[in-house]
Formats: sequence, structure tokens, C-alpha cells
Amino acid sequence: MTKKDTFTALVVEKEDKNLVPTLKQLKIEDLPDEDVLIQVDYSTLNYKEGLGFANRNKIFRVFPMVPGVDLAGTVVESKSANFKPGDQVILNGWSVGERYWGGYAQMARIKSDFLIPLPKGMDTKKAMALGTAGYTAMLQVMALEEAGITTDSGPIIVTGASGGVGSNAVAILARLGYEVTALTRSREESIHTYLKKIGAQDIAGGEEWTQKPAPLEKQKWAGGVDTVGSVVLSRILSEMKYGGCVAACGLAGGFELNTTVMPFILRGVTLKGVDSVSCPTSRRIAAWERLVTDISDEALEHINKVIPLKDVPRYAGEILEGNITGHILVDVNA
Ligand code: NDP
Repeated sequence: MTKKDTFTALVVEKEDKNLVPTLKQLKIEDLPDEDVLIQVDYSTLNYKEGLGFANRNKIFRVFPMVPGVDLAGTVVESKSANFKPGDQVILNGWSVGERYWGGYAQMARIKSDFLIPLPKGMDTKKAMALGTAGYTAMLQVMALEEAGITTDSGPIIVTGASGGVGSNAVAILARLGYEVTALTRSREESIHTYLKKIGAQDIAGGEEWTQKPAPLEKQKWAGGVDTVGSVVLSRILSEMKYGGCVAACGLAGGFELNTTVMPFILRGVTLKGVDSVSCPTSRRIAAWERLVTDISDEALEHINKVIPLKDVPRYAGEILEGNITGHILVDVNA
């Protein structure tokens, strides 16, 4: 671990109404005045940064902004009693990369309250191969478990399955022994093969997933991990088995939800919202510790593509177009 006096960061500035990302050399003094200085190894690219770079949904709240909602690295300096130089840490959420500078830089100064220790048995590369996507998927799986959904309950459907959160959810559920159906818009054989490699037993898709469902459809799923929202979420709710639970985190297909009370009052279905950004620290730590074992390294290899910092804006455009399969790991030192 070394304190670099100057370092590379991806800085987004606002010029008139346009956002302009540039790789810049910054000095330590340029960083925000927070209590822990970190040498960053990896960050990730998510749908949220796709929205941010496209100047949608007001993701970037201050300018100049160093985006990146997560990072993993090593503490270089600390004014906090909770962290000392040499400690390896993970940061994700807490509006970092939105209101506060984030992970797209070789050095970062972060509020110690936002940091958690890297779990034993995980290195910084694995931490960000999982990233916010893996951690959110884990929170969703924990929500299903807490609703009493076991491997004997029946199949679990994962939506947006070829995306970052979806792929991680497929792999975690498969590792835990659940029967997983992956819902994807893609009709490409290569994507179906990919989903089976990471643990899906079955693939779902087709026209009905763009159409409004009946209030109650045939009962199919014991659980659902939803990243898409909108008509996809309303169909899953209508197709839930008695006593089932859907953990919903996303809006890749839209934020509206038109449903009826029928799945809730006639089948006892639960819809559980999952938020990763402000999730309490104890639950975060529990989720990250489970990720040491609850996803296979082989699946993570299949899921991840590594890119350098300079390629982030281009891939941010691709992720919004739905052109990325799996998860993007950003090597800030490449
Ligand atoms: P990705 O872009 O990696 O994955 C989203 C997937 O959804 C795509 O790969 C695609 O999968 C599917 N999809 C995309 N567009 C549409 C569409 N118009 N209609 C239906 N399906 C679509 O995103 P992430 O995995 O990073 O994030 C997924 C969602 O979860 C996002 O909405 C994100 O904001 C949200 N999220 C929320 C968090 C929280 O704390 N609540 C934390 C992390 C993410 P396929 O082609 O296989 O169908």
C-alpha cells in the first residue's frame, strides 16, 4: 500500500446541460475532507452509473463528481479509531458516487461510517467482482429465506437474469441448492448457455412477459428475485404460489407497478422491497460475509468482465442499452 501524491480519477463535470467525463490526474488535496484515505484496487459499473452518465434520474448530485457506487481497497491513512493503515475495506452505497465522490479513482477519501472490513477469505478483486450487484442479490436471497422460502418450497424466478444483480442472484441461489428459473428478454442461445453455466435450471421468456397478466395466473414460483419492475413484476406476483415471496430491488423495465390485491389476499404472497444503499451496517456485514462462500468462484469468473477506468463511459452507455451480459469489474489501476 502506497500513498500516491498524484493519481488518476474519472471526473465528471457539467458543461451547460451536458456531462463531460475526463480522466484526470488529481492530488490528494483535491479529495474531499473525510477521515479515511484509501488506495483503491477495484470498483464496478452498474445500471445506476449508466443512468448517471446519461444525465438521467439525477444520479450525480454534485459536480465535479467522481462516480462509482462502490470500491474495495486498502486504508492508507485514518483519523478513525475503527480503521488503521493496512486494513482492507469495502464501501458500497450510502450515496457514494452520487452525493459523495466514489470509486472511479486510484485514491479515495471516505467517511469511516460508510466502510466495512473486507471479510476474511475474500480479496479486493472478489469483493468487486461481486460489488453492489452481488451484495444486493445476497440481500434479496436473505429476504426470501426470512420469508420462509426454502429449497423445498419450489422454483425461484430471477428477472433481468443476464444483468449484474440477476446473474449474481442466479449463481447464489443455485449454490444454495434452489431450483432457479432465469427470466431473460434474450433469445440468443449464447445467453441461455451462459445462464445455465452460472446455475439456472430453466430459462423463461417470451411475449407474455410484456403483457399485463390476469390478477391471478397459474401458480408457478415459490420465490422471485426481481430487478426489472413494471409489467414483469406484476406478472410474477400473479404467478406466485401460495405463501410465496418476491424480493424486488430494481426498475430496469420501469418504475411503475400495476397489480391487484389478489395475490396478497388470496395467496398470502409477500412483496419485499430491498434497498442496498442505506441498508444498516450489521445487515451489510452479514450479507458480505455470506458472499465468501455462498457463490462459486467459477460462476463469478463467468459473470465478470474486467475493464479499465478509461472505458467506463463507453460501457455505461452499453449497460443502459441492455447490451451487457453479467457484471463489469473496473480495475482502476489498469
Ligand atoms: P443490469 O443492466 O446489469 O441488468 C438489468 C437487466 O434487466 C438487463 O441485463 C436485462 O436482462 C434486463 N432489462 C434491461 N432493460 C429491460 C427492459 N426494458 N425490460 C425488461 N428487462 C430489462 O443492471 P443491474 O443488475 O446493475 O441493476 C438491475 C436493477 O436493479 C436496476 O434497476 C438497478 O437500478 C437496480 N438496483 C437496485 C439496487 C437497490 O439497492 N435497490 C441495487 C442495485 C441495483 P435480460 O436481458 O436478461 O432480460
